[in-house]
Amino acid sequence: MSQPSKTVVAVPFADLYAQYQSIQPEIDRAITGVIRTSAFIRGEHVQRFETEFAAMHGGAHCVSCANGTDSLYIAMRSLGIKPGDEVIAPAHSWISTTETITQAGGTVVFCDTDQETYTIDTAQIESKISPRTVGIIPVHLYGQPADMEAIMAIARKHNLWVIEDCAQAHLARFKGRTVGTFGNAASFSFYPGKNLGAMGDAGALITQDAPLAERMAMFARHGGLTKGSHLIEGINSRLDGLQAAVLSVKLPHLPLWTARRQEIAGAYGRLLAGIPGVELPKVAPGREHVYHLFVIRSEQRDALATHLASRGIQTVINYPVALPFLPAYARLKHRPQDFPNAHYNQSRILSLPIFPEITESQLQTVATAIREFSSQP
Ligand SMILES: *Cc1c(COP(=O)(O)O)cnc(C)c1O
Repeated sequence: MSQPSKTVVAVPFADLYAQYQSIQPEIDRAITGVIRTSAFIRGEHVQRFETEFAAMHGGAHCVSCANGTDSLYIAMRSLGIKPGDEVIAPAHSWISTTETITQAGGTVVFCDTDQETYTIDTAQIESKISPRTVGIIPVHLYGQPADMEAIMAIARKHNLWVIEDCAQAHLARFKGRTVGTFGNAASFSFYPGKNLGAMGDAGALITQDAPLAERMAMFARHGGLTKGSHLIEGINSRLDGLQAAVLSVKLPHLPLWTARRQEIAGAYGRLLAGIPGVELPKVAPGREHVYHLFVIRSEQRDALATHLASRGIQTVINYPVALPFLPAYARLKHRPQDFPNAHYNQSRILSLPIFPEITESQLQTVATAIREFSSQP
């Protein structure tokens, strides 16, 4: 009559309910407010969030949309991508970064990632440029900014556009300047687990370029900004009023949640220092990391993850197969030696639990379990 043993979750990978509880009266009031006004699509709540999010990025224009994948697609279509145009993107990211290049009619050209920061290796970008190259999509992966100075210099020299993929890096800074303000446009996701998360799908674009903002808004709204006037064929991609209201409640909390993520990363750094075989994340000079993910490297990654799971600690691999090696890109026939860093990392990276509400004792539990693993014979 024995029951199958079930491991109790001691440390979840993330805890969205804990965040809700910390601001429950504000969220409940906002949701009720939207229902009362019935501004479910477009309307005051969406407009308010767009204004606030733009202000957070130095008064740029904000175009909200349905998610952080559509935003990349909308930006590329609005920048005028044509069939056969090549776009350079990092070899290790979430697939949205590159599937949207293909959707928009472009051709994906991968560039390896930097071994220290996991962001695009800027020393290799120029070797990927051809006469057909039109743009670069750097990703501020895990929350650490890519080297925007080097990327913008290359873009200016070769007359390329840049779309920053900021889905994991809300409020991260490069040399004191907030990410999303460097490129021609910047794409954000508010997927529930992101640093700023809605209670469903949501996304937005930021740009300092007013005509581009207008084209993006038009494209996302069936090709017209007023009802019945369709200047072009577009798509339907919109942020809804409930998500906008939730995001407006959460936005003022984001600086504190970000600081908390940075504190947690510091605590992990102290607790895990000197454990043999565990490589901690590194932050390059001039970059402010916002730790959407806390990613360590280990030669025994899979055994370590299994050990942590046995102690009730959830971990994730972001991402277990680098983009060029996915079946989705088999047509490009890439080999491991084409992107040695991304290939090296995919079998060693492990994301540890990190969220603003994680407790000191949960951090201790993780650290103890990792120490225990590394001291096994
Ligand atoms: C989450 C994410 C996206 C896509 O966002 P969705 O809102 O889920 O569509 C794009 N790029 C990166 C790097 C992401 O992490």
